[in-house]
Amino acid sequence: MSLKLYNTLTRKKEIFKPIEKGKVKIYSCGPTVWNYAHIGNFRAYVCSDVLKRYLKYKGFKVKHVMNITDVDDKTIKGANKEGISLKGYTRRYEKAFFEDIETLDIEKADIFPRATEHTKEMIAIIKNLLNNKIAYKSEDGIYFDISKFKDYGKLSHTKLEGLETGKRVKQDQYEKEQARDFALWKNYDKEDGNVVWKTEIGNGRPGWHIECSAMSMKYLGKHFDIHAGGVDLVFPHHENEIAQSEASTNKKFVNYWFHNEHLLVDGHKMSKSLGNFYTLRDLLAKGYHPKAIRYLLLSAHYRVQLNFTEEAVKAAENAVQRLNDFMIKLREVKSKSKNKEIDKLIQKTKKQFEIAMDDDLNISIALSHIFDFAKEINTLIMENKLGKKDAEKIIELMRDFNKVLAVIDFEEEKLSPEIRKLIDEREKARKEKDFEKADKIREDLKKKGIILEDTKEERL
Ligand code: AMP
Ligand code: ZN
Repeated sequence: MSLKLYNTLTRKKEIFKPIEKGKVKIYSCGPTVWNYAHIGNFRAYVCSDVLKRYLKYKGFKVKHVMNITDVDDKTIKGANKEGISLKGYTRRYEKAFFEDIETLDIEKADIFPRATEHTKEMIAIIKNLLNNKIAYKSEDGIYFDISKFKDYGKLSHTKLEGLETGKRVKQDQYEKEQARDFALWKNYDKEDGNVVWKTEIGNGRPGWHIECSAMSMKYLGKHFDIHAGGVDLVFPHHENEIAQSEASTNKKFVNYWFHNEHLLVDGHKMSKSLGNFYTLRDLLAKGYHPKAIRYLLLSAHYRVQLNFTEEAVKAAENAVQRLNDFMIKLREVKSKSKNKEIDKLIQKTKKQFEIAMDDDLNISIALSHIFDFAKEINTLIMENKLGKKDAEKIIELMRDFNKVLAVIDFEEEKLSPEIRKLIDEREKARKEKDFEKADKIREDLKKKGIILEDTKEERL
């Protein structure tokens, strides 16, 4: 069966065909490390994680690159406000980001390039665009002349007619109506403090958009399969990435553009600027389980907006609990009997899951099949119509599904609810730096035969 993905470029669902048989190259726009990421941001990373995991489930070998934007308007402003170095400032949030993706079981990318370590590659592209007269120098930097790239606007469907040519926009983020020549390189400005690269194209720093063209092409080649990000990146960021990359290579840049819709709060995009956000840490401190947060973020189709409420996290917590309880029940089946219908039922469910996921990752349908299946099996268990061997096969199926979903904890499921609760409480105490309480719970757990070991870093 073939996977179909919605491609923002063509506005259609298309059968996914990799450039190289059996292999997929994906680039996702990573975090701008100017603050703690909020769970809206994590919706983007969870959605591309499900895509990546499903591609692997289907047998593709995936190479995934996710950049770290550690220099842009926002990071410079933040560092200067605190009066610390850009590196000192951004590494703090980069560290938090890595901790958070681990908590949410988001698989690590193969490479996490930092923008500040790739200015050489950016400059090479800019020089090429200057030589080809697609970019030009102005008093405050180097700009991309959008009138020189005939396909400008093809991703976001921005029309160039009616726009005055030669007008420029220096800031990294702007609206579609303001589409104009954008900054590839920004000459040093006193607002940049001590952030400056002294280079052959001038003293200054890169614009945000060129960062992703340089890092994606360096690690994935000039033409690769999938580029992912939230819908707010379609314009100007991804539109500009296409323009810079294709104008400098004369090749198609990316085949499939994958964009997730937003996480909302009361109908508005969750964002730092609106102040309507929760960080992952906020939710963990309230006692919510990371798996519930992950479940919530992935359970709606990636192309529909999802409204965030605490009730929704609680519902997600229940759903995860139901799956974990299902696993516990399966492990408790001891009967030697065999149910002749099980193989068929397993095949049917696997097929239903795959048909749904192949249809542009229709995860809500895929999940509903899993829950229907669990209900049917639970009835068989209650009626004593399931044998241990049958249950083992079902556990294997769930393990396969969980390779994509990563919401069931196959380690924790063996623990009783009482012990799981203690582990969660201890985790919370550690996060709140209440080490006395955490140590006491650890001692209690030890008495029950559960040994927990912390690494040194976790304590810092
Ligand atoms: P940023 O760190 O601002 O560059 O954003 C990182 C990723 O999060 C990008 O792919 C954004 O499109 C995405 N994003 C930002 N806000 C939201 C939101 N409320 N819901 C879903 N994705 C978002
Ligand atoms: Zn990007």
